[in-house]
Amino acid sequence: MGQSADAAATAAQTPDSNKGNNGHDKPLETLIIGSGPAGYTAAIYAARAGLKPVMYTGQEPGGQLMITTDVENYPGYPDGIMGPAMMDQFQKQAERFGTDVRYDLVEKVDFSGPVHKVWTAGGDEVHAHTVVVSTGASAKWLGLESEKRLANVGVSACAVCDGFFFKGQNVAVVGAGDTAAEEASYLAKLCPEVHMLVRRDEMRASKIMQDRVKKTPNIIIHWNTETEEVLGEKEVTGVRIKNNKTGETSEIAISGFFVAIGHKPNTDIFKGFLDMHDNGYLKAVPGTSKTNVEGVFVSGDAADQVYRQAVTAAGTGCMAALDAERYLAAKEII
Ligand code: NDP
Repeated sequence: MGQSADAAATAAQTPDSNKGNNGHDKPLETLIIGSGPAGYTAAIYAARAGLKPVMYTGQEPGGQLMITTDVENYPGYPDGIMGPAMMDQFQKQAERFGTDVRYDLVEKVDFSGPVHKVWTAGGDEVHAHTVVVSTGASAKWLGLESEKRLANVGVSACAVCDGFFFKGQNVAVVGAGDTAAEEASYLAKLCPEVHMLVRRDEMRASKIMQDRVKKTPNIIIHWNTETEEVLGEKEVTGVRIKNNKTGETSEIAISGFFVAIGHKPNTDIFKGFLDMHDNGYLKAVPGTSKTNVEGVFVSGDAADQVYRQAVTAAGTGCMAALDAERYLAAKEII
């Protein structure tokens, strides 16, 4: 049953009306922003500690692992597991202990008072004593006009999501890190030729990934190569590349152009409240998940530009929930 008309009117007039708090005026004990391994691990620990966590999933529920194939380095899965299947299990485990998972995006925060406030795209305003920030990171783009214009009609940042559309066609992958190597290997199973565009004369990817790429006969590595333009009007037809040692330009006919050049932390909404490095990664007090704001904790890739692994994200999610619980206990809120 809904609330009475009088009660609804009163709630609407309350200046601090706290719609997302399930109709209660009391702030939440713990709010979690983001739904990757960090967020879900924080949720599991917080829920089992009785903190009744609410999680806002963000725009990409499940985070970066939703666009990954086999995860072979997460302990406990000796045969590997697909990224989306793993995130499904994370979610089920968090919900089993009572996490309230909401498919909505936090767009604005105010961490200036003793109680933290957030606003969502869906219209929620939520107040919480503690917030766990686990907003992760997103793919970077080259910044070419042609890349933007041809996005989703041949330009992609996710081979696992879009590779299938280019089955039997030639593609290119930009980048030379583990992501680029992983994407090239994945695409090599679908496409006759995968052109890997590497801007230096060596790759950043781990040795095992490099070896895999170099041993795959249909991956053609173009060293010292930069992308000048993605070609095509309504769909990708090719790419113009430039050798940065010789200055020579050439074109390759491709149908798919995959960008795999790293990530940017999703921390813009915290500017002005949370201390961050110049590149946007959040700062935590070393050895803890504490930020510069009392009651706000950070976990996962949003504060990790070094390790960026699912298992390290999960570990810091655990730390954030434990730090939140201890903070609430010290303040005698629980
Ligand atoms: P990285 O930052 O490691 O690599 C980015 C790559 O893109 C680099 O080779 C870089 O070149 C290149 N690059 C950047 N900007 C441009 C540009 N404008 N034009 C051309 N090339 C460019 O990002 P990743 O996403 O690959 O990896 C991030 C982290 O995640 C790493 O720690 C990685 O080990 C980890 N990871 C692990 C996986 C696994 O274990 N299975 C899978 C995927 C990622 P340059 O080298 O010249 O700087």
